[in-house]
Amino acid sequence: MTSDLPRTEEEAAAELERLATEIAHHNRLYHADDAPEISDAEFDTLMRRNQAIEAEFPHLVRGDSPSRKVGAAPSGHLAKVAHARQMFSLDNGFSDEDVGEFLRRVRRFLNLSADEPIALTAEPKIDGLSCSLRYERGRLVQALTRGDGQIGEDVTANVRTIRDIPQEIPGAPDIFEVRGEVYMAKSDFTALNARLLAEAEESGKEARQFANPRNAAAGSLRQKDASVTASRPLRFLAWGWGEVASLPGETQSAVIAAIRAMGFPVSDLFVGPVDLDAALAQYKRIEARRADLPFDIDGVVYKIDRLDWQTRLGFVGRAPRWGLAHKFPAERAQTTLNDIEIQVGRTGKLTPVAKLEPVTVGGVVVRNATLHNADEIARLGVRPGDRVVLQRAGDVIPQIVENLTRDEERPAWSFPDHCPRCNSEAVAEEGEVDVRCTGGLICPAQRLERLKHFVSRGALDIEGLGEKTLVELLDLGWITEPADIFRLAPHREELLQREGWQEKSVDALLAAIEAKRAPDAARLLFGLGIRHIGAITARDLLKRYATLAAIRSLAMEIIALRDAMPVAIGESEQKHRARLDKAITEHIGVENVGGAVGQALADFFHEPHNVALWEDLLAEVSPPPFIVETRASEVSGMTLVFTGSLESLSRDEAKSQAESLGARVAGSVSAKTNLVIAGPGAGSKLKKAAELGIRVISEEDWAKIVAEAE
Ligand SMILES: [Zn+2]
Repeated sequence: MTSDLPRTEEEAAAELERLATEIAHHNRLYHADDAPEISDAEFDTLMRRNQAIEAEFPHLVRGDSPSRKVGAAPSGHLAKVAHARQMFSLDNGFSDEDVGEFLRRVRRFLNLSADEPIALTAEPKIDGLSCSLRYERGRLVQALTRGDGQIGEDVTANVRTIRDIPQEIPGAPDIFEVRGEVYMAKSDFTALNARLLAEAEESGKEARQFANPRNAAAGSLRQKDASVTASRPLRFLAWGWGEVASLPGETQSAVIAAIRAMGFPVSDLFVGPVDLDAALAQYKRIEARRADLPFDIDGVVYKIDRLDWQTRLGFVGRAPRWGLAHKFPAERAQTTLNDIEIQVGRTGKLTPVAKLEPVTVGGVVVRNATLHNADEIARLGVRPGDRVVLQRAGDVIPQIVENLTRDEERPAWSFPDHCPRCNSEAVAEEGEVDVRCTGGLICPAQRLERLKHFVSRGALDIEGLGEKTLVELLDLGWITEPADIFRLAPHREELLQREGWQEKSVDALLAAIEAKRAPDAARLLFGLGIRHIGAITARDLLKRYATLAAIRSLAMEIIALRDAMPVAIGESEQKHRARLDKAITEHIGVENVGGAVGQALADFFHEPHNVALWEDLLAEVSPPPFIVETRASEVSGMTLVFTGSLESLSRDEAKSQAESLGARVAGSVSAKTNLVIAGPGAGSKLKKAAELGIRVISEEDWAKIVAEAE
């Protein structure tokens, strides 16, 4: 790491300045925005470079040197509170020698003889969010994030929703702060991302996904609304303490054992007191099990076991002399980029994928890596044939982090402007970096997914027409577009000849299809998978326009409106877009439906193949006019919130009941809420309703209101 240090003071000063800016930038992205651009290993490399230069040129250490700070100042909406005792950050070591040197420093500082045994503790370093939990007279009174070490963010309400954390610790000292890591298990992280994606698809919004479990934990904990935190599967592991009225032990391991006895989870991989060899053996054991652990870790933490020695050792700068984080080597490998392949997703998004010469990174053979988009390819300057550095960080997906042969003279790889699957034009929406195929249902890459969406539960809901069957029917060439589904009956005999089909299953499928000849218009519109038109938007549009014919007319009007509103002389693209957006929104005249929906609708009907598909489909099915019949009742005109588990009906049914009574259903309780219907297990929404003095009724009361309506 000390190689290639700057030779002159000028060079060193310039580089230290650059590093201070760069590290501060990444620190802010990591801590304040939960959106890192670089991996932890890359960040460590920057920090080590900074330290190495500072060690060589100590008189050039800057006032704003990154080595003097921990993390970034807290951000945003959460209250900022000073820690009673600073939250420190550990120095890093990267080899067994670094650990040996750590112990030699301790020995020198304490003036211990060479044969005086030094006991250590060792435990995995969880990649989560450090928190300090303050208990007064045994009751949890405050929870703070680390923040910059001095000042953290108040996340007390959020922490109360984490089941691993006791609300009370009977018999604890009057003041007792437990410190540890709030984290998300890898499996919970994967499930959360899947859920966020499904919810986004349901609502037609862009999915917000987390990059890794650490970001998911941070994003979930640092919520304004604790009920969001409650819905996220956060966990906790204790590793230390802050201010305490008295300590239940004289060694690190004894106090940790006492904290465990109070009911806090402590890592099963915690060992101590142990000697150096046993601590290093524990490091090897943990490293070997790393991939199988339920949570992400980035190293092993050693602490001097004797607390009297810890006190004597004290701190240097931001770090205690009595602790060390032994980091795992970054999981990196070099390989050759053989090709860049374009994959086309369900929404038509073109994603470049690096096809690599197979290489082992962190125990896993990697053949592909995502290149994300055209910007990423430009940033790395990669072309087929380049040597690249691959990294598997906390995230499961391997990434290319460096192009080693960037300087070789070869033309840049250019992003295709046509879909590799259907040859339709591929374009980037205004202000977006993603390139999408415009082929829609004629694109084979999108066709299966589009058809899956068309028959899915939220859309036409055709039972028995799952992915496997769709693939079979697509392969046979019997269906290529939605209307074909309604023309399967003539294939009955042929289908019966096929393996896996019996009279019963074939007839059940055909009956399920026939049952949807008069589908709900909103479900049909949603089923077409037009961008920005989710289930809710489709309903909102049809509540106002009633028929699909009217929706098509609306699209034609928007096309005409667009044509009539060209860019004015001297008008910026942005201004024009805003003006058009406003006009379209006003023209549609539906609450919560904006210009993007209108534009997407217009784009859809602007394509002749979409119009053909639409007409073909409407020749097969005839959705009745969409009428939300409302009946007068005591809740007409009100805004309702359902919470808790409803026992006699589903949420969807409850919502449609409410709408049929002329009421509006909202997702969260606010001052605008008139009535809350609470089932068993209702939590924060119920509490909020009580705070706001909103009337709360039971599911039975609700059933009475529905029954009594005229
Ligand atoms: Zn395509």
